[in-house]
Amino acid sequence: MAIDFSVVPSPSYLVDERLLVKNLETLKRLQERTGCKVLLAQKAFSMYAFYPLIGRYLSGVASSSLYEARLGREEMDREVHIYSPAYGEKDFAEILEVSDHVVFNSFSQWARFKDQVKRAPHPVSCGIRVNPEYSEVETGLYDPCAPYSRMGVTEANFDPDALDGLDGIHFHTLCEQNSDALEHTLAAVESKFGKYLNRMKWINFGGGHHITRADYDLGRLERCITAIQDKYDVQVYLEPGEAIALNTGYLVSTVLDVFENGMPIAILDTSATCHMPDVLEMPYRPEIIGAGKPREKAITYRLGGPTCLAGDVIGDYSFDRPLHVGDRVVFCDMAIYSMVKNNTFNGIALPAIVAYSEESGARIIKQFGYENFKTRLS
Ligand SMILES: *Cc1c(COP(=O)(O)O)cnc(C)c1O
Repeated sequence: MAIDFSVVPSPSYLVDERLLVKNLETLKRLQERTGCKVLLAQKAFSMYAFYPLIGRYLSGVASSSLYEARLGREEMDREVHIYSPAYGEKDFAEILEVSDHVVFNSFSQWARFKDQVKRAPHPVSCGIRVNPEYSEVETGLYDPCAPYSRMGVTEANFDPDALDGLDGIHFHTLCEQNSDALEHTLAAVESKFGKYLNRMKWINFGGGHHITRADYDLGRLERCITAIQDKYDVQVYLEPGEAIALNTGYLVSTVLDVFENGMPIAILDTSATCHMPDVLEMPYRPEIIGAGKPREKAITYRLGGPTCLAGDVIGDYSFDRPLHVGDRVVFCDMAIYSMVKNNTFNGIALPAIVAYSEESGARIIKQFGYENFKTRLS
């Protein structure tokens, strides 16, 4: 059934369970065919209303902080993995309580917390993040292998004498990439750190695998996983974020005003900087249902948000017919890196969160108000 976007609150993030399940089925098949374990990287998508569903398909969660780890424990309760560039003393006891795997970013962090790990209330498997100094990411903001990177241990700084007690190697160097980039990365990882893999129980390939994208080469990914598992007798983990909820969600908005300044301009009740900050940070251009590239259709508008930031502009889009106040404008692929990054800058309200399923239709999971703005400010 087609979703009726006119009946949901505006603005709202709407995630279509049917599309999410399609992605999850692909990932579950990957686990079944290779024996690898796939985790949800919560950094990209933390709509925990879906965690019970996701937990039926995937093996657990990857977390970047105590709060994410705790959320994964509370709401999915499968394997909880955590990696952070540095842990603080005040969080670490609680991190050990809720986590199964803890990945350290440096040997100094490992040395600092090693004894505490041994005294954990349950066995915790520890690993070290390496930096293979090989990446095909072209945007500096997303390249963990750039010079002076703070992400992971390089070969020159690797300490083979400090491996006692460590079960795994972790790397994360991909971003929205296909499996050819993974294959090249694995060659770098093996040449620099392969000699230590035989003493490990697991290797975590990180995230950035765009597995659920239409042109993704799954066969090559499966061959990469199987080759490493067979050669070193290790469990392979993947922790994609984007791939789990890729193309499963929308941001539904409404036109508040239309006017001219050299070109038609429309102000929406949703903001790039508040509700889809990656549009400005990444940057990227989200698709809009029924709209085209500038000048592709009859009338081109510059779409912007209701904040006072001059650059709160989503982009230029063309439409078949003029936009009017009250019209709905629906942005695509808005489940990932949206809800997790939004904010109330300028006092702009947060979008509602809506789940859509075949059985129940659109179901409002949460709506936000003035209190959500006020309570963070004093
Ligand atoms: C961001 C991140 C992920 C998820 O990356 P995606 O690009 O969303 O797949 C996984 N692991 C680590 C360590 C990360 O920092």
